[in-house]
Amino acid sequence: MGALPRAHRAVYLLGPRTTQLRTVPAPRPAEGELLVRIEAAATCGTDLKVWQRGGHPRMLQVPGPFGHEMAGTVVGLGEPSNGWTEGERVVVANSAPCGTCAACRSGRENLCSGLAYLNGAYGEYLLVPRRFAERSTYAVPSGLDLALAALAEPLACVLHGIGVCHFSGRETVAVIGGGPIGLMFAAVLGAGGHDVVLTDPNARRLAVARRLGAVDAFEASRDGRDAVRLSEAFGATGPEIVIEATGAPGAWETALAAVAPGGQVLLFGGCAPGTVAACDTHKLHYSEITVRGAYHHTPAALRGAIAFLADGVPDLSILLDAVYPLEKVQDALAAMEARRILKATIRPQPR
Ligand SMILES: [Zn+2]
Ligand SMILES: [Zn+2]
Repeated sequence: MGALPRAHRAVYLLGPRTTQLRTVPAPRPAEGELLVRIEAAATCGTDLKVWQRGGHPRMLQVPGPFGHEMAGTVVGLGEPSNGWTEGERVVVANSAPCGTCAACRSGRENLCSGLAYLNGAYGEYLLVPRRFAERSTYAVPSGLDLALAALAEPLACVLHGIGVCHFSGRETVAVIGGGPIGLMFAAVLGAGGHDVVLTDPNARRLAVARRLGAVDAFEASRDGRDAVRLSEAFGATGPEIVIEATGAPGAWETALAAVAPGGQVLLFGGCAPGTVAACDTHKLHYSEITVRGAYHHTPAALRGAIAFLADGVPDLSILLDAVYPLEKVQDALAAMEARRILKATIRPQPR
C-alpha cells in the first residue's frame, strides 16, 4: 500500500443551505474496507433538496459528510482485502443492502429493511465500509471517463424505474420534468426505440431532451393544468406510459390525468412529506390505470447503468454542464437551483 494521506478536505452539510469545508484526518481502511481517492463527484437533484431542507430523514443526518454520486481510484485496502486491488477505478453506490432480509432475497434490495447509506462524495477521499466494498462497489470499464461514471447512481435509479414499468413493444411515453433524471429517462427510452415526449418549463432542457432522443419536447408548467395538452400531444387517447420526474404533487396529478386508458403511470419523483395528490377515481378504475412508485436502485440496475455509460450511446455527458472545485459545492447547488446548470461535476482533488 502506497503512502496514504494524513488529512483530507471534505464538505459537511450542517443544516439548511449551510455546508462547511473541513480538513479532517484521512481514514485508514480496516479489514475488508477500501480507501478511495475521489476523482469526480456529481451534484444531484436529491443533493439540492437535501441542501435546501438541511438533511434527509433516511439518507443523511446532519452534521455529516455530503455528496453521494462519485467515481474514483482505490488507493488503500484494509487487510485482508476482498478482491479489490490498488489503482482500480471504481464507482461506489450510495447504499448497500443487507443481503439477508426478505426484500433482498427477492431481488428488491432497494426496499431492504436494513439498507445502509453512504455519503461523502464531496471529499478528497472516501472510506468504503466493508458492506459497501463487498456489495456496492463496481469496477469502471477502461475507456469510461470517471466524471461520466459518477452518473451511474442516478442512471441506476432511472433503470430501476423503467424496470417496474411493463413494456410490450414500442410505446408512447410522456416524461414530465426535464431535470437530469427526466432527461435520462428520455435518453434510455429513446435509445430503446420508444416515442418519448418530455415537458418542462425550461426551454434549454427541452433542447437537451431532443438531442438525447425525445421525439418531441414542449414547455409546460408543473401545476397539473397541462394534462389536456400532454394528452393531446399523443393524439386522441394520451400516452401509454407517463413518467413523473419532478417530485411535485401537481405533476403527479398531471400524470394521472394524462395517461391513456389501460396505461401506466410511474410516480418517480419523491414529494415532500405530508403532501397529497388528487386523482380521478372513475378513470383509475374504469380505465384500468396502473400506478407504480419507484425508489432508489438495486445492484442489478447499477450494473446496467455502468454498461449503458460504457456503451456511450447516447452520450450523457451533455448533462454535466459545469465543473466546480470542492470549495464551490454551494455555488454549484445554487446554480442548479436557479436552473443555470443541469448537473455539475465536482473535482475534489486540488490541481
Ligand atoms: Zn443522486
Ligand atoms: Zn436487506
